[in-house]
Amino acid sequence: MPNDCPLCRIVTKTVRINVLGMEFHYRNDDPNEMIFYKDDIVTICRTKNLKGHKERIMVIYNHHSRKIEDWMERYAISKVLEVAKQVFNQSHSLAEIFVVMDSTFASIKDHWHLVVTDLDPKTLDFQQMMKTKWVLVAYKKDRKDTEWNTTESSSLISGMKKAYEIVQHVFQRN
Ligand SMILES: [Zn+2]
Repeated sequence: MPNDCPLCRIVTKTVRINVLGMEFHYRNDDPNEMIFYKDDIVTICRTKNLKGHKERIMVIYNHHSRKIEDWMERYAISKVLEVAKQVFNQSHSLAEIFVVMDSTFASIKDHWHLVVTDLDPKTLDFQQMMKTKWVLVAYKKDRKDTEWNTTESSSLISGMKKAYEIVQHVFQRN
């Protein structure tokens, strides 16, 4: 693992502890950095820069590699979806829609990761988000809902089309 890779640093500095059957995760170099989850394959944390979003999460492959196998990618996406549904349900977030983006505009290209964030026209990266491919979208049909619906994007293109319809629907409602 290269020492100068910030994602490798997050992975190696994240500690897993088990207390009375409950898993806890934290950064041993900075307890203020929010770690949501870690297992043998992925680490899930809050990104350092929120870019004006209510919440911005990243799933990182635990090894320094540009590409990962398909089944691992599917695993990483299902894991971050599971975590994100909980995180975005927390009161401070209040987001009704979040997007798993592909890494087209990622600043770190050689370490596989995906960013998950709420969608809000007031945020700094909104224009960029509209140009990025989305892996999938999770949304609430009703504002008071705690259940998330997700687009099934077997192919990115049809997923995108559905995604934009949902985005328009949610924005019109607001
Ligand atoms: Zn790395």
